[in-house]
Amino acid sequence: MGLRIGQGRDIHRFGDGDHVMLGGVPVPHDQGIRAHSDGDVVLHALCDALLGALALGDIGGWFPDTDAEWAGTDSTQLLTTVYQRVRELGYQLNNLDITVLAQKPRIAPHVDAMREHISATLALPPDAVSIKATTTEGLGSIGRAEGLAAEAVVL
Ligand code: MG
Repeated sequence: MGLRIGQGRDIHRFGDGDHVMLGGVPVPHDQGIRAHSDGDVVLHALCDALLGALALGDIGGWFPDTDAEWAGTDSTQLLTTVYQRVRELGYQLNNLDITVLAQKPRIAPHVDAMREHISATLALPPDAVSIKATTTEGLGSIGRAEGLAAEAVVL
């Protein structure tokens, strides 16, 4: 059937700022993200899952953080570029499932907006886009609210 599965994960450290970008949505927070691009862990994990499904390398290879072209980049643009390549190769997304790991900020109130943004960006039905959130119960670097992470699986 030519099915391909891929997984991706990303983590970023908090830094100065007043919001974090997650799934293309600005989520208010008392810190921002320290990153070369906009530091959107949801979209970065999703890009890596898409690339992984077709053995196309990883986001670091596609958009090097040493390259000024990608400084402060809107990660929706990265996702669009990656998915365009997937489509060119004759594949399309069936569904995706993402878990956000964050002690702070609270993610649940923003999940629907993220799902809408991703389904609109990739022209997917809303029920093909799942986003879940969990804390790490105060354990580890994420539990200490030093940053946040996301994991993605795609078919
Ligand atoms: Mg990243």
